[in-house]
Parts: sequence; structure tokens; C-alpha cells
Amino acid sequence: MKINIAIDGPSAAGKSTIAKLLAKDLDYVHLDTGAMYRCVGYSALLNGIDLDNELEIEKMMGNINISFDSKGNVYINDNDVSKEIRQNKVSMVTSKISAYPKVRKLLVEQQQELAKVKGYIMDGRDIGTIVLPDAELKIYMVASVKARADRRYKEYIEKDIAADYDEIYRDIEQRDYQDINRKTSPLRQADDAIKLDTSDMTIDEVVTAIRKLIKEKL
Ligand code: C5P
Repeated sequence: MKINIAIDGPSAAGKSTIAKLLAKDLDYVHLDTGAMYRCVGYSALLNGIDLDNELEIEKMMGNINISFDSKGNVYINDNDVSKEIRQNKVSMVTSKISAYPKVRKLLVEQQQELAKVKGYIMDGRDIGTIVLPDAELKIYMVASVKARADRRYKEYIEKDIAADYDEIYRDIEQRDYQDINRKTSPLRQADDAIKLDTSDMTIDEVVTAIRKLIKEKL
């Protein structure tokens, strides 16, 4: 039997890394919903769309098709944008455009359609609260700003993306603020989610802890 698993939390808490490993381990499908929002932010930047114009962004979304391959690479209309969407300027734009209800509506519909079949591990900000309120297991993954900035910095260096530690630290704080305080689907822990603070945990420890929780649900 397969279940659906929702992993929510602030940026750089390790959600995608953990979800990817678990999905491989359990033969589940991982859906990184942040990457979908990033595709919208990246396309808006690329096409010079006025970021204050929600309607224009909605219109633009009609022309882009977001897809993933089995390795987790992300495509916009068949162009691999996996690396481009991780740039810091894209993160900031994404946090802004993801506050728009029209943007959220379109992406949430796509996410819900996919997860009609069980066996999804979805990570994001609103999975346990809005996208999959019936998910059998909900994790709310948190970590200190310092732990998250350290990880993001390391990730950027490894992926050969230009990185400035202080900027990353500030941006994480700012994105937390924007994601928590927006009107539509703010980041918050679902009532039935289990909180996991990963600040002092290794990746293996987090995976083991969640595997245990999954076992309890089955
Ligand atoms: O998870 P990641 O940091 O890649 O997400 C980028 C941005 O997309 C977040 O800062 C957040 O504003 C937005 N997002 C969202 N809802 C989701 C996933 C991501 O609003 N389910």
C-alpha cells in the first residue's frame, strides 16, 4: 500500500533533499513544488513581465508547461532550467509571485491532479494545509536560519552557482518573512503535522526518522 506524504517548511530546511532520497528508497514519486513556483518566477524574469502585475503573470502561465524527468530535472517547455531556477535572484522573485492567488490556484490544481494516485512525496509550503489536506503523513521540517544558510551556501558552491554567504543568510530571513506573512496560503504547520527540527541532524538521521513515521502509518 502507498500513501501520500506532505513535507512543508521554510526555505533550505532540507525538504527536497530528504524527499528525493525517501522517494528513491520507497519507490515513490517526489514532487518539488518549490521548483514549479521557481519556474514561474524565472519565466517572468526572462520575459520581462511586470512583477507587480498578477494578471500578466497568470497570462504568461498559459504559455509555459512545467515538467520533471525521473532524475528530478526541471523543464519549461522542454528546456532544462534545473540550474537557472536556483539562482538567488530567482528565489526572491519567486517568493514575491508565489503570494499571488491566481498563480497559486493554477499550480495547486496541477499538484492535486498528479497526487490523485497515491505514492507521492510532495514538498513545499502549503502541501499539508491546502494541496493535500488528506495526506496520510505530514511533516513540518524546520531548522535555524544559520543551519539553513550554511547548507544553501554549500549547495551553491557544489553546484557551481555564484554565492555570497551574507546575502544568502539575509535572503532566507526575508523569504521566511514573506512566506509566513502573505495572505494566501501562508507557511504554517498543519494541525496534524509532525514537527521535525533538523538543525543538528544529519541527512541520514532525518531520513531514518521519517522512515520510522511512515512505517507507523502503514
Ligand atoms: O522550496 P523553494 O525554496 O524552492 O521554494 C521557492 C519559493 O516558492 C518559496 O520561497 C515560496 O515562496 C514558494 N513556494 C510556495 N509554495 C510552495 C512551494 C514554494 O509558495 N508549495
